Amino acid sequence: MEGTAEERVEKLFHLAEDADSVEEATRYVERAKEVAESNRVQIPVEDKSKVCNGCGRYLRAGDNARVRLRSDRDHVSIRCLDCGDTNRHPYSGGDN
Ligand SMILES: [Zn+2]
Repeated sequence: MEGTAEERVEKLFHLAEDADSVEEATRYVERAKEVAESNRVQIPVEDKSKVCNGCGRYLRAGDNARVRLRSDRDHVSIRCLDCGDTNRHPYSGGDN
């Protein structure tokens, strides 16, 4: 894979989004984390929010995650159905 570490991380998150299963997506984000750590680059907050803080699995709404938008508090609450952890992130708008 070519490009800068940032581009590779981004690419891996894109692959995770398109993955057929949570397992496959989780492997991509694990690779992305390795690339980010070994190159000392930050994973964008937006991408980080797609990974469970508790178990490190890729979170997919309707699959292993329950997403709840708290408009009154300006954050998104994502509950991981695998480990039960609730991940909270500031609501950034998003395009879907
Ligand atoms: Zn989890």
